Amino acid sequence: MDHVPKTVQDIKNAIRNIPDFPKPGIQFKDITPVLADAQLFAASIDLLTENLEPGSVDAVVGIDARGFIFASAAAIKLKAGFIPVRKKGKLPFSTHEQSYELEYGTNTIAIHTDAVKPGSRVVLIDDLLATGGTAEAAAQLLKKIGAEILEVNFLIELSFLGGREKMKGYPIRSLVVY
Ligand code: AMP
Repeated sequence: MDHVPKTVQDIKNAIRNIPDFPKPGIQFKDITPVLADAQLFAASIDLLTENLEPGSVDAVVGIDARGFIFASAAAIKLKAGFIPVRKKGKLPFSTHEQSYELEYGTNTIAIHTDAVKPGSRVVLIDDLLATGGTAEAAAQLLKKIGAEILEVNFLIELSFLGGREKMKGYPIRSLVVY
């Protein structure tokens, strides 16, 4: 087993491109090979959290569903709590909801109204930034509950879809950029 630290390039090399999934024209970025490799998974969490001190963050917020994987591991590393942003209808307590436009139709995500105390310092994490609709809606939910967003972090950014533009005003970082 080699102990050479894994880099963003190693993570990029492991991401699998699946053409036409889940529908024609979409190039799906499959992160399961990164998760399955102990060193790459650990490196992705180290790199996603590299600007943050353990103890300096109250909570890490993950977006349903692949965002949960990275956000919960990052929460342990940062000695912070974990908060889920879920698809509408899944959270059991009272929620705030936020809708956003998809290519066809709209999607709605939700957060518990008491997920954090107002003024809490949070980091928002998702696996991938595409058009930015999901991340922008999640950031709006965090605003509704009074959270302070320290960083918005993505493992992958599809820069040609312009999500960064939609997220301007938020401190966003992404590791692997296409
Ligand atoms: P968007 O709201 O357009 O930025 O889309 C981001 C969300 O959709 C993320 O939660 C991703 O998991 C998912 N997503 C969008 N495009 C892709 C893609 N090409 N490969 C994998 N996941 C994607």
